[in-house]
Amino acid sequence: LDPEEFRKQGYMVIDFLAEYYKSLEEYPVRSQVEPGYLRKRLPESAPHKPESMDTILKDIQTDIIPGLTHWQSPNYYAYFPSSGSTAGLLGETLASGFNVVGFNWISSPAATELETIVMDWLANMLNLPNSFTFSGNGGGVMMGTTCEAILTTITAARDTFLNKYGPDTISKLVVYGSDQTHCSFFKSAKIAGISPSNFRTIKTTRSNSYSLLPESLKSAIEADLKNGLIPLFLVATVGTTSTAAVDPLGPLCDVAKEYNMWVHVDAAYAGNACICPELRYMINGVEKADSFSFNAHKWFLTTLDCCCLFVKNPNALVRCLSTNPEYLKNKATDTQQVVDYKDWQLTLSRRFRSLKMWMVIKSYGVDYLRNFLRSHVDMAIYFEQMVKKDKRFEIVVPRSFALVCFRVCASAVIQCCGQKFLEEEKLNEINSELLESINSVGKIYMTHSLVDGIFLIRFAVGATLTEVHHVTYAWKLIQEHATIVLGKRSP
Ligand code: PLP
Repeated sequence: LDPEEFRKQGYMVIDFLAEYYKSLEEYPVRSQVEPGYLRKRLPESAPHKPESMDTILKDIQTDIIPGLTHWQSPNYYAYFPSSGSTAGLLGETLASGFNVVGFNWISSPAATELETIVMDWLANMLNLPNSFTFSGNGGGVMMGTTCEAILTTITAARDTFLNKYGPDTISKLVVYGSDQTHCSFFKSAKIAGISPSNFRTIKTTRSNSYSLLPESLKSAIEADLKNGLIPLFLVATVGTTSTAAVDPLGPLCDVAKEYNMWVHVDAAYAGNACICPELRYMINGVEKADSFSFNAHKWFLTTLDCCCLFVKNPNALVRCLSTNPEYLKNKATDTQQVVDYKDWQLTLSRRFRSLKMWMVIKSYGVDYLRNFLRSHVDMAIYFEQMVKKDKRFEIVVPRSFALVCFRVCASAVIQCCGQKFLEEEKLNEINSELLESINSVGKIYMTHSLVDGIFLIRFAVGATLTEVHHVTYAWKLIQEHATIVLGKRSP
């Protein structure tokens, strides 16, 4: 690595990205390429001779960018956001520049110490109880994704139970979530060796805004106990993926604690917004849970990846995940005065994520971060109000955070095609057609979910560059496409 060459190429890459951000709105938000497009464009084998940065950037422009879905576009409303920012992006660059592998304290003391400090800062911003911080004998760790956070905690819980009940009881351990819990939970449970016949996906209903009811949890647990099974783990979600539903943490934890279960709170998306004092009540009850995680890369101006996991009992993780080979032994570890994060997670090598999070917090400050999140919630409220005013649409569940779930309603279709009755399936088909009609043009991008048989369109405000006029534009476009799609149905 020649520093002067690095400087030269570094400027070129930053210039390239700056131009990308300047022209971001010109690209179709959802990539318009067909599967296999890239193989047709790139050579069959790797180049044997070096190519210049100039050539590589030209290839990126012509071959790679057409295959990108532009998550940073201000017209992006799909899935949940992947929040970018100057500080996040440059923090990531610095972390890659140092390229340290901070698996234990001695391998890069700053990486470990900064992570413990930043995690405590975050706990403080979220008003988490002291028991989730290092001074309260808990603590936080940064991982890549929520999947890793859940797998880590479920594995720790499993081992705690197996130590108590014996290794043969693994087939009896049961895990609980709702039918809205993210699929990563059941994937993690499977990897952790829990029998798929012991996964409970408890039904939720539209009348309860798809949140998990404590009494439903209790009856599922009681039924399992009668069958000689052992309740192990509950995932409660704050901000479910389909509709941003909020499970009532306090009452759910009360039920789970009666049976000594581990409770993990998955707040992958919505946890970010809970740094705003007026939204903090959404995680009330978290003090009774064992672990809590949120994805800062979703909505905290921190680029991918950065999942923040807080645990009350790090020893449960360490007991299950620690390794101590000769080649990693060192005096600092022997003193037991340091955190060796390799023992809190699945992998050994780990990235210096705290550097980018620290840069984000320092560059913007807590007040700005809160206002940034509020601005997205306000834009979602504005969008929801516009939807409510157009009689052709309905809000499927009340808005939660910055996610609006809506659809064309049955009465609009009935009125338009002059029919007396409309099956749910037909309504779903029309909404699916509407969504595809909008997305295929590439001006905005939204995604859908199917909840309780209802096909709903999700409008998730959260891209860093989105402003009110983008939302106004999006709504106008949705209305225009609805007119076309409904118009096709008129006799
Ligand atoms: N949990 C919830 C509620 C989510 O919405 C998501 C992703 O959107 C996940 C978990 C999975 O997150 P990750 O991709 O970080 O594993």
